[in-house]
Amino acid sequence: MSDTLFTKIINRQIPADIVYEDEHCFAIRDINPQAPVHLLLIPKKPIDRLSAAEAGDQALLGHLMLAVGKITRDLKIDNAFRLAINNGADAGQSVFHLHLHILAGRAFSWPPG
Ligand code: AMP
Repeated sequence: MSDTLFTKIINRQIPADIVYEDEHCFAIRDINPQAPVHLLLIPKKPIDRLSAAEAGDQALLGHLMLAVGKITRDLKIDNAFRLAINNGADAGQSVFHLHLHILAGRAFSWPPG
């Protein structure tokens, strides 16, 4: 499988504003932000989409959730943020390497569009 955009960012082949990194994941600022704070939290393992995750990814998926907590606390947006995963092209997924959108800094409506 050829490298995804996000794998190239992890490997520093493509520049990005990396705001967090640990052994299993990293977070960058979205290049086309939809809120004053718009981060993408990305596992280093290139899982195609959430629905392609397997039982062996359980610890990684939990790790991502805890990383969301750490990142949002560090950025002082932990009081209000929106977490979104687009799974599949019809749901708006454009990069097929699992990523969590963390959005903050404005009010969010419900249901989402
Ligand atoms: P999705 O549409 O859910 O797959 O999200 C992909 C996100 O990646 C979009 O919000 C894009 O704006 C963002 N994106 C695409 N290329 C880059 C890049 N080079 N650096 C940062 N974010 C990017």
